[in-house]
Amino acid sequence: MPKHIYAFGGGSAEGEGTQKDLLGGKGAGLAAMSRLGIPVPPGFTLTTEVCTYYQEHAGAYPEGLEAELEEHLGRVEAMLGQRFGDAGNPLLVSVRSGAPRSMPGMMDTILNLGLSDATVESWIARGAEERFVLDAYRRLLTMYGDVVMGVPHHAFEAILTAARKADGAATDADLTPAALRALVPKYLALIEKTCGKPFPQDPREQLWGAIAAVFESWNNPRARDYRRLERIPDHPGTGVNVQAMVFGNRGTDCATGVAFTRNPATGERKFYGEYLINAQGEDVVAGIRTPRPVEGAEGEGLAKDFPQAWRDLEEVCSTLEHHFRDMQDIEFTIQHSRLFMLQTRTGKRTGAAAVRIAVEMEDEGLIDRRTALQRVEPQHLVQMLAPEFDPKEKAKADLLAHGLPAGPGAASGKIALTADRAAEMSASGPVLLVRAETSPEDIVGMHASAGILTSRGGMTSHAAVVARGLGKPCIVGAGDLDVDEHAGEVRVKDRIFREGDPLSIDGTAGEVLAGALSTRDSEVLQGLLDGGEATTAGAKAFRKILEWADGERRLRVRANADTPHDARVASALGAQGIGLCRTEHMFFADDRIPWVRRMILAQDDAERAEALAKLLPMQQKDFEGIFAALVGLPITVRLLDPPLHEFLPKGEKALGQLAEQMGIDPAEVAARAEAMAEANPMLGLRGCRLGLTFPEIYDMQVEAIVHAACVRAKAGDAVRPEIMMPLVGTEEEMSRLRQRTVEIRDRILKEEGLEIEIPIGTMIEVPRAALVADQIARHADFFSFGTNDLTQMTYGYSRDDAGRFLPQYIESKVLPGDPFQSIDVPGVGQLVAMACERGRQARAGLHLGVCGEHGGDPDSIDFFDRTGLDYVSCSPYRVPIARLAAARSALKQAKEKAKAGPAEDAVPAAVPIAASA
Ligand code: PEP
Ligand code: MG
Repeated sequence: MPKHIYAFGGGSAEGEGTQKDLLGGKGAGLAAMSRLGIPVPPGFTLTTEVCTYYQEHAGAYPEGLEAELEEHLGRVEAMLGQRFGDAGNPLLVSVRSGAPRSMPGMMDTILNLGLSDATVESWIARGAEERFVLDAYRRLLTMYGDVVMGVPHHAFEAILTAARKADGAATDADLTPAALRALVPKYLALIEKTCGKPFPQDPREQLWGAIAAVFESWNNPRARDYRRLERIPDHPGTGVNVQAMVFGNRGTDCATGVAFTRNPATGERKFYGEYLINAQGEDVVAGIRTPRPVEGAEGEGLAKDFPQAWRDLEEVCSTLEHHFRDMQDIEFTIQHSRLFMLQTRTGKRTGAAAVRIAVEMEDEGLIDRRTALQRVEPQHLVQMLAPEFDPKEKAKADLLAHGLPAGPGAASGKIALTADRAAEMSASGPVLLVRAETSPEDIVGMHASAGILTSRGGMTSHAAVVARGLGKPCIVGAGDLDVDEHAGEVRVKDRIFREGDPLSIDGTAGEVLAGALSTRDSEVLQGLLDGGEATTAGAKAFRKILEWADGERRLRVRANADTPHDARVASALGAQGIGLCRTEHMFFADDRIPWVRRMILAQDDAERAEALAKLLPMQQKDFEGIFAALVGLPITVRLLDPPLHEFLPKGEKALGQLAEQMGIDPAEVAARAEAMAEANPMLGLRGCRLGLTFPEIYDMQVEAIVHAACVRAKAGDAVRPEIMMPLVGTEEEMSRLRQRTVEIRDRILKEEGLEIEIPIGTMIEVPRAALVADQIARHADFFSFGTNDLTQMTYGYSRDDAGRFLPQYIESKVLPGDPFQSIDVPGVGQLVAMACERGRQARAGLHLGVCGEHGGDPDSIDFFDRTGLDYVSCSPYRVPIARLAAARSALKQAKEKAKAGPAEDAVPAAVPIAASA
């Protein structure tokens, strides 16, 4: 018969610490501690398989479970010389949940099971302390009533508060036995009245009721929400731990506490915890009594109150850290000065703590470098780089709305509803740009703002991409906001905010908060940008982790950067080049946009040539600045790829200004702009289609790039520019673009008398390009996957409109996640893999990279590494994250390979993808 229950305690255990999936985290921790000889009250664990069975069989249990449970209960009774339900010397037990992945506060616990009216009286009659027994009973009634029978907790609290008042007791611990005795009938009546049935007096009925409640709680809404947010699977379910009670509420020589073996907020190697004298577990979290710090000021603390238990606890923690080789989150009880351990599990920690603990544990010889790298998650680095709110202030603030957390970090400032106003207002203090959505014309205002908030859009909408590029906190798609630019107000939750009102956003959590909360800069980021030595333990640990990551990764990391400033930031954060310089972003400056518009609206070649002649020196200067910022590193400059409408003047004022500059009638400008309008600009005259329709534009850009390279080379810099074509879909496009570019490049280099290698390559971002990658590779020195467009066009989801249905798709599991955020491996990923294979078939050693947003996403980075790309390119502020993710991917693959062993290597690969004709 299959085994459903595993014993622990008394120096041994049937299960093992590694069996988390079967025993749950708590059960595995109890088994491990028992085996280590740590004092653990005896008990047993019902496995997660029982939970799965229960869920799949409408609340029924596997056959034989009851007999198995009786056997285990008998073992505990024998060990302690007590009996469950006994009148004179009853065994009391706790029932606690414990899932494989910890879900703090999500599941339920019941203490003191086994008491009844009769046992309470007979136990007291046989000498048990009256106050303690009654206190234990009223706690059982509260927890059982709440968790199993559904009586609201506050109903018990109301009765208790009235009793404290009547008794003149400051805390529950001060209630007299008489007051506690008077509570019992009130609690029993409350339960019966609320549920229509009495509290079960039979201990076994209590036990089975509690077990069922734990299994039921696996599917309560908050547990389900938590699993969804933390991406925890629904299977296996939770284990149930039944354990003999030890009592922290049995007098002043008793206590209960929770602790971490290191500080979970900072990572400092210092015991961090709290305890309460004469109390039970739930009192520590209930907040009625203030717990004491385990290591208090001036010698106060556990060492003073319970010297022997403190020494034992220190030893236990050292044993646990050496065994698990990680920071532990523990629960303990001291009963009559003796220490008992109730729980150990790997402690949750902030990003800063994760990094510091990993690095210091390596230092202490507890773990090696590779383990340290596996312990730090990319998200931990994101947290360390993001500005933050003061947590106390945030807890008090009014939460207005949720949106997608597009740019991590905290920002607050005065609301500006247009980009122009944001730019103006920023002169007098921080501004939050709040828009329905942003467009490239908003870029200046976005730059000027402390943070960006939109009511529409998804994770790769314009606002999201630009904000991440700028390293600004950003929330997009906060659908509860009604942003009314015309009325000059934002409406949310029956409240109205006007321009100039203070607002805050937490871009890490996706939360919009009322008022201006103060933020602090991430010291780690500041230190990196300043370029000095790291001064704090956190900053030193951050740099150490990245140094180790660089030693492990194969994949190189570049940045997407369009300005010399971005290039310098990228370099400070460790970028090994620029993978994408979007030249259209350079055209939005005030001195350029009129000339760009004239270029677009030109009626003839002469008009266009005049505009281009004005733009050329400006572009060249930009390139010189970028080349100078990243000497010796490759810089991929992409030729113009604008949806044209984004550049066209909007509003009468702009039309009038442009008409004046062009010396024509405003109506004529409006007519020409109208003629350019496209029904679907994302699929219109974009990318290389523009370059082939108006070749002079790309000619000008190529000239600017090559001339800039010559200027910097003559100044002594090693320059490595690369020229990249956007939106190529056919061989003919690429061969024509290449031919024209080669002619200009070679002519200028000859005139300048210089030999500079300037490769010419292409984005692969149209599905057709991936399908015919072998044909395109004949004319390309490199490929860079534009996975934003490739995702858009493969799914047929508009990047700018997907926010209207994607959240619902993800919520209802039509899609497993946002494909604009993390690459869709089976679909879009297949196109990438196919293009790599076909491209390299046609051109051996073809250099491959990715510059879509996925280049900064850890899961996607793992895929790109496995697919054999040479580099990923992401926004400058994500470079450290990508460096770590690339290292973690390399380690993961090495582990998989080692596990598969040599035999697996010999297995032939799956059917190769055939090259296109
Ligand atoms: C892409 O499509 O992935 C890309 C990098 O280009 P853009 O985002 O500028 O369209
Ligand atoms: Mg693109």
